[in-house]
Amino acid sequence: MTALSSLCQDEVDESAKSSYFNLYFLSLDVSLAFPQATPASQFPPPASDYYQFDDLLTSEERVVRLKVRECMEKEIAPIMTKYWEKAEFPFHVVPKLSAMRISGGTIKGYGCPGLSITATAIGLAEIARVDASCSTFILVHSLTMLTIALCGSEAHKQKYLPSLAQLTSIGCWALTEPDYGSDASALKTTAIKVEGGWILEGQKRWIGNSTFADVLVIFARNTTTNQINGYIVKKNAPGLTSTKIENKIGLRMVQNGDILLKKVFVPDEDRLPGVDSFKDTSKVLAVSRVMVSWQPIGISTGVYDMCHRRYLYLMRTDYLVSILSRIQARFCNKFDFSTVLHSHDKLYNFQAWISSKARETLSLGRELLGGNGTVTDFLVAKAFCDLEPIYTYEGTYDINTLVTGREITGIASFKPAFSAQRSRL
Ligand SMILES: Cc1cc2nc3c(=O)[nH]c(=O)nc-3n(C[C@H](O)[C@H](O)[C@H](O)COP(=O)(O)OP(=O)(O)OC[C@H]3O[C@@H](n4cnc5c(N)ncnc54)[C@H](O)[C@@H]3O)c2cc1C
Repeated sequence: MTALSSLCQDEVDESAKSSYFNLYFLSLDVSLAFPQATPASQFPPPASDYYQFDDLLTSEERVVRLKVRECMEKEIAPIMTKYWEKAEFPFHVVPKLSAMRISGGTIKGYGCPGLSITATAIGLAEIARVDASCSTFILVHSLTMLTIALCGSEAHKQKYLPSLAQLTSIGCWALTEPDYGSDASALKTTAIKVEGGWILEGQKRWIGNSTFADVLVIFARNTTTNQINGYIVKKNAPGLTSTKIENKIGLRMVQNGDILLKKVFVPDEDRLPGVDSFKDTSKVLAVSRVMVSWQPIGISTGVYDMCHRRYLYLMRTDYLVSILSRIQARFCNKFDFSTVLHSHDKLYNFQAWISSKARETLSLGRELLGGNGTVTDFLVAKAFCDLEPIYTYEGTYDINTLVTGREITGIASFKPAFSAQRSRL
């Protein structure tokens, strides 16, 4: 590192120098160690819009992009590494995230933003550019809202959506169980009909925001029909507990929980009338897949911006070009096709392919930063880790590939232990 520092000393750019002095009293460790590489707490402006994608956006989309970008760079970047390392959620920034007006994206009315699908996706990508935990937090929360909007009664929408849109109440979405992830449609949590309501009994795993959520959408098997139904469970319901899953390697600010449901009573009015079977759950997942696939694009863009430093590109311009061209390829694909593919519900492998390619992009960035690519202060190592759970959580690459394979050949190649019909996708 010493040799590199002296080699590049006269190439230190002015912003990095001023960052060094500004940060001197705030975070001595990082700035002193390597002033050329501005830490991610001072997030750089976008390095370039080389292909001028902004020109393709509508004015609504551009406004969303800039508003989200400003908030993320100003409010989240300075605190994110600290909270990521502590694996804690920064509750104090929730009002700032709320002010971005992105929660519930496409939902119209009930105080929701009513954005186009592209504006919502661009907004989520901008959040992920700075911090993938925040984009996942908003995504899971919005999935709760979307389920209520698509499958809830009019009374549910009026009761829950306005406060969820403002993030004054927080949602979580609980499908996965310890033994049923890819195979979620075979889930075992039961809903038994009793007078005036339902009794939920079972377990959920990995549920984002569940340790503090006010509104929990829980999927359970109706023991009368043997079909999957959806229920709204409120925080502190007797018999409900959620225990934080510790030691995650990525998305460490997101609080994923193991939920235990022990004879949890849900009144009749809190059953979602629009969830009669697993097919209805899939409708929500179809929208979610569009959104999730924009996260790797946003994360990769942030990594490019962090790598776009004079001291780095003097040495490895080829890496930068390679990272940029991969991002642009993904962006082009998504921009043109996401809405079309979503309307045809054919986004399975596309989403998995984008996160798989982003893994390659981020490993280039990680390598380019050398030793600094192994510490979270400079974003790239953090982004590299954050992508791993994203690569898994919207259906694994294998499952997405198998589902697409079944569609194009008509033959299901799922492992015998699982049936194709039982796959979550
Ligand atoms: C950080 C994080 C956040 C999450 N948030 C949520 C949330 O908020 N709500 C929620 O409901 N869920 C959530 N999940 C769960 C997520 O959807 C599942 O982890 C995912 O669907 C994979 O399921 P699994 O982990 O049980 O893996 P498994 O299904 O056990 O898969 C293990 C391996 O087996 C392979 N495999 C499985 N089935 C087959 C088959 N038939 N043929 C061939 N190979 C197969 C898989 O590809 C994988 O490699 C989250 C997960 C993570 C990691």
